Amino acid sequence: MGRNYKIGVIKGDGIGPEIIDEAMKVLDALSANMGFNLEYNEMLMGGAAIDATGVPLPDETIQGVKKCDAVLFGAIGGPKWDNVERHLRPESGLLALRKEMGTFANLRPAMVYDELVNASTLKADVVRGVDIMVVRELTGGIYFGQPRELLKDRAYNTMVYTREEVKRIAHVAFEIAMKRDKRICSVDKANVLEVSQFWRETVIEVAKEYPEVELTHMYVDNAAMQLIRNPKQFDVILTGNIFGDILSDAASMLSGSIGLLPSASTGKGVGLYEPIHGSAPDIAGQGIANPLATISSASMMLRYALNESEAADKIDDAIKKSLAKGYRTGDLGAYDAVEICSCSEIGDIIAKYVSQ
Ligand code: NAD
Repeated sequence: MGRNYKIGVIKGDGIGPEIIDEAMKVLDALSANMGFNLEYNEMLMGGAAIDATGVPLPDETIQGVKKCDAVLFGAIGGPKWDNVERHLRPESGLLALRKEMGTFANLRPAMVYDELVNASTLKADVVRGVDIMVVRELTGGIYFGQPRELLKDRAYNTMVYTREEVKRIAHVAFEIAMKRDKRICSVDKANVLEVSQFWRETVIEVAKEYPEVELTHMYVDNAAMQLIRNPKQFDVILTGNIFGDILSDAASMLSGSIGLLPSASTGKGVGLYEPIHGSAPDIAGQGIANPLATISSASMMLRYALNESEAADKIDDAIKKSLAKGYRTGDLGAYDAVEICSCSEIGDIIAKYVSQ
């Protein structure tokens, strides 16, 4: 009997359902001939959950994800829910879900496909060969710190990190660096923020356990500049929640489109696999979204959560092959495109390649 996996599926809002459908199409094409079986359990979250239940993260979803081997996630949010109270907004549901799942580590690869070096807004020579892994702390820092308050004449948030929080994310980054080029750049703002000074000291402490890994430090403003100036200098970037949020989006543009890059949120238990982009309400329902970031997220899920590396390789190869053949969604513009395809056409092509 084949291997059986329970996959939680949260399609979400905007382009979420469109891109997840394509990832499921590819997974189904793969599982058919790779000897495993995926049992999907669809759950509600975000705006779709608000509409159906009144809250962005229903209890049923919290309980449901805990019974899965991994969760494949689309994207949530949109203008329809922008004016509801902050704690009831779709984004609050996602932050709460990550917290509930204990997914404190966000892994965001930023790589440039050779076939798309011309799609980047930077010069081909600058981006060719870029292969960065941003390791972002996900459940601490200023997005979660207390106290926080919005008053009439002022508002504040608190950036706080405990030693344990910094140590555990640093360990994740060092373990990943050991499997790559063994270089970590820890990004902070230690010249201004006490919390960053603490971050830096703690990372240096953890580094003693990994003598083979070269550790450097960079202030976040410089890191933003260096990512654009000379991105190839980076291997693993280790950073906190808000800095990682911003830097990984900037890094994503090196690849040409935000629609290409996957992410994994892992930690104590079940991991969440999702594209780094949002629900793109401006193009939702038009069938033109790029599903590759989500299909790539499904590949990360196979590799990191299910240990199905061979199947993950097949997806990665199929993506490269489709790009090499010139199939592009509109966000990649006309860069060496042979054919501009719809979201579902790209899904069909990748599904065909993985089942060959
Ligand atoms: P976004 O990532 O949704 O879109 C930014 C731009 O990139 C848009 O022009 C969009 O059309 C384009 N884009 C994004 N994904 C694409 C894809 N797969 N193919 C082609 N083009 C793509 O960011 P935004 O516009 O700032 O946010 C829209 C909504 O998404 C907001 O409600 C926001 O809160 C939410 N959001 C959700 C997540 C998440 O679910 N993890 C992350 C970020 C933003």
